[in-house]
Amino acid sequence: MRPEILFPLFAEIDSLPGIGPRLKPLLARLLGGEHIVDLLWHLPSGLIDRRFSPPLDETIDGSIVTLDVWVERHDAPPNRRRPYRVICKTQSGPLVLAFFNARGKYLNEVLPIGEKRIVSGKIDHYRGEYQITHPDRIGTEAERDEIQTVEPVYPMSAGVTGKTLTKATRAALATVPDLPEWHDPALQARHKWPDLKTALHQAHNPESDADLSPDHPARKRLAYDELLANQLALALIRAKMRTLGGRVTQGDGRLRKALEAQLPFAMTGAQQRALNDIYADMGSNGRMLRLLQGDVGSGKTLVALMAMLNAIETGRQAALMAPTEILARQHFETISPLLEKIGVTCAVLTGRDKGKNRKATLEGFASGEFQIAVGTHALFQEDVQFRDLAFAVVDEQHRFGVHQRLMLAGKGQAVDVLVMTATPIPRTLTLTAFGDMEVSKLDEKPPGRKPVDTRVLPADKVDEVISGIGRAMRTGTKIYWVCPLVEDSEILDLQAAEERHRILVDLFGEAHVGLIHGKMKAKEKDAVMERFAHGDLSVLVATTVIEVGVNVPEATIMVIEHAERFGLAQLHQLRGRIGRGDAASTCLLLYGSPLGEISKARLKIMRETEDGFVIAEEDLRLRGAGEVLGTRQSGLQAYRLANLELHGDLLAIARDDARLIVELDPDLQKPRGDALRLLLYLFERDEAVRYFRSG
Ligand code: ADP
Ligand code: MG
Repeated sequence: MRPEILFPLFAEIDSLPGIGPRLKPLLARLLGGEHIVDLLWHLPSGLIDRRFSPPLDETIDGSIVTLDVWVERHDAPPNRRRPYRVICKTQSGPLVLAFFNARGKYLNEVLPIGEKRIVSGKIDHYRGEYQITHPDRIGTEAERDEIQTVEPVYPMSAGVTGKTLTKATRAALATVPDLPEWHDPALQARHKWPDLKTALHQAHNPESDADLSPDHPARKRLAYDELLANQLALALIRAKMRTLGGRVTQGDGRLRKALEAQLPFAMTGAQQRALNDIYADMGSNGRMLRLLQGDVGSGKTLVALMAMLNAIETGRQAALMAPTEILARQHFETISPLLEKIGVTCAVLTGRDKGKNRKATLEGFASGEFQIAVGTHALFQEDVQFRDLAFAVVDEQHRFGVHQRLMLAGKGQAVDVLVMTATPIPRTLTLTAFGDMEVSKLDEKPPGRKPVDTRVLPADKVDEVISGIGRAMRTGTKIYWVCPLVEDSEILDLQAAEERHRILVDLFGEAHVGLIHGKMKAKEKDAVMERFAHGDLSVLVATTVIEVGVNVPEATIMVIEHAERFGLAQLHQLRGRIGRGDAASTCLLLYGSPLGEISKARLKIMRETEDGFVIAEEDLRLRGAGEVLGTRQSGLQAYRLANLELHGDLLAIARDDARLIVELDPDLQKPRGDALRLLLYLFERDEAVRYFRSG
């Protein structure tokens, strides 16, 4: 239950003056919420300074001035195209106020002849006259203090005027209660942060550009409030998961030893380190939730396999979940021969399995006949039961949501979860998405990888590229040809790929050129992949479906059309499909002209490095967080007050702060804990509060 002291802030916006049923939905859309807090989090992006009253001959055209005027005469226009003119006198000369489509009656009311008024607006020179067209403000001497101020300018949208926002926000500010301080006094003093109420007032009443800066103490405080609320919520949930009935899973090592004996190579130091982290988590009685980050080809599968064997050694089961059918099947094909050699049973379950087959697989999971389950999200449907699931690996996490992760974890008794991702999420973004979720990194690639030679070419060189691949085909090389998403439309997307496929078939023959795309049935996709991996196909034209696709070591050339339309992370993933064998590999990035500066810089990064983390950091720098990981795709919370590019330093502080809070006061029972609860409610992170109350 939301604490009473916050009730005024969670009142609906239409309880404010000037906001009625018509405006409410428009405003709610702009703000992203319909409560007074949403209005408070909507900070000004600029200001209009109405404090200046220079003599007319010192004004600068286009600047905002506030002047005392004495109304002399009204000139109604002869036709609608001419403005209605109100001729005034000022202390420094005559001034014309001009109005198009004006109503004379109204103007006579607000600017009566012979009276003094205060007007404010943008001044211009026009045909030797000083003129203000449509003054923003007109009032009497008594209203001067309201007019001659600095006005905030808010980000706006259709149907909501600045005046409305300013007025509503003024009223909203008046409802802000005095809240107890939740920040550490030393931290607050060091940063000179005002209290929340003062911070809100300052942020909404900027007096100069410096007040609008993200570095202003008021803005920083608000950003930190938001970051801390988020980090604290994650830390609380995390701490709860840790204490929530975990089990000790510690095998005797017999299966792992047997597997290692089968491998033609030794594990890399990074793999070993990651496994040590994972074994330690599994061996503790808390619940594990760890992220394994490793670039494409860094050997995550083996890490997952070893960790699963640790669970199997104790007589329990393990599951490996992949985001797509192809990937699930490929995992199964990679690991089942290895498992067979060491006497471990394994079955695959995807949405494609139906009827008897599916029933048998489900029975095998339920009886424990199958020790390892591999599959897609089909693994966590209601009717899937395990005898004793202890460990789950979720591969390529960015395709799943947090919700699904938790669903899977609910399948067993205290299932330990390892999330694997090849998306090199920049450090700052990992923090936002996972809080202090433990992270192991595979920062060392298996030996013997050849670097990929990446080249960037304009699209009009495509004929040369085609003759090049013709030569390569004759030496047995396999080639990926990737066509991009066209304007987010799967249909157009497909047309582009089909067109390219047709052209290449005309040149090289049907038998050598295949096509794979997202609209195909899983069986058809598998068949084409199979022909590419082991059969007669030399060229595989693909839409981005191969993004997390398969392992074909003979594939050493990749052509990517309209590379500028891809995200860098995506390009990196695609490129990771080549350079897996012994031969040198080449990646050709074709771009459509003209290429903008940012696109140019992005493709240059691809040419210069194969380090996924460097690529991700650069991409973040060039494009901003929102685009690198879209909210929908990644499950990231979009921030309203904090800006990760500008407040990145605060994020790390918030994480440490949250960690310490949870350590010292895990149930938020101490006085600061009470205040922190308010913070969680204020930023609507109530789910965290619910977590520790019930648990
Ligand atoms: P990821 O899933 O991280 O993209 P994979 O697990 O598919 O990478 O591994 C890529 C390739 O590297 C596989 O063919 C795998 O057998 C091989 N590999 C994994 N670990 C090692 C190692 N320590 N030494 C040599 N090769 C390895
Ligand atoms: Mg893999």
